[in-house]
Amino acid sequence: MQILILSDLHANLYALDAVLADAEGQYEQIVCCGDLVGYNPHPIPVLEWALANCGRIIRGNHDKVVAGIDSLEWFNEVAKEAAMWTIRQLSADQLGHLGQLEKGPAKLEHFHVWHGSPRDEDEYVTTKSSAAPCFTFFELPLAFFGHTHLQGGFFSARGRIGIIPAVRKKEKEAVLELEPDVLYMVNPGSVGQPRDGDPRAAYAIYETEQKLVKLRRAEYPVQKTADDITRAGLPGVLAVRLFRGM
Ligand code: ZN
Repeated sequence: MQILILSDLHANLYALDAVLADAEGQYEQIVCCGDLVGYNPHPIPVLEWALANCGRIIRGNHDKVVAGIDSLEWFNEVAKEAAMWTIRQLSADQLGHLGQLEKGPAKLEHFHVWHGSPRDEDEYVTTKSSAAPCFTFFELPLAFFGHTHLQGGFFSARGRIGIIPAVRKKEKEAVLELEPDVLYMVNPGSVGQPRDGDPRAAYAIYETEQKLVKLRRAEYPVQKTADDITRAGLPGVLAVRLFRGM
């Protein structure tokens, strides 16, 4: 079984389309680590696609805020403006679907999945010290998470925490062979708003029999998303950051 792992799609349809074209024929199931909406200008097609195609979707903090589950007050001004714009675009039904997304962590057949951390769906796990307590939660050797928009993650081998790097900028793929007695917490990276300095859309594929995680990057027409951000009247800084991948 090959499973496509997506996170932080953030209403960027051109990035999503590029990922699906890049991964075509290489997966049978799709799992999403959250944040379907927010920041970018295509919340409706991205939400509708995810609801129709993902086997499991764990909710993200932007999904919660747009659905009215969490308050807007914790967001910065730009995220808040984009969230309010998104709320105006979605129908009551679509907002209802967002609000019904599953809260993480979830234990699936082959791995765990959550948005931020297993203790707090809104926690940013960006360092070895913030990753360490997450490993006490593991019942399976693998978990996928999102929220930071940083591809890669962490492993725990006999009490030592190590870093899993993102795909190098000159390459399209990095293959991680899972070893016995090691725990892995993998971030596929963000489809719709990468923040690891690489503007290419990020995703992962997990091959369950060979126990391989393939981290991948796909180019997409950033300018088209930027033009739609301008047309929608969303803050211009949201377009600028897509070109920089920050
Ligand atoms: Zn996000």
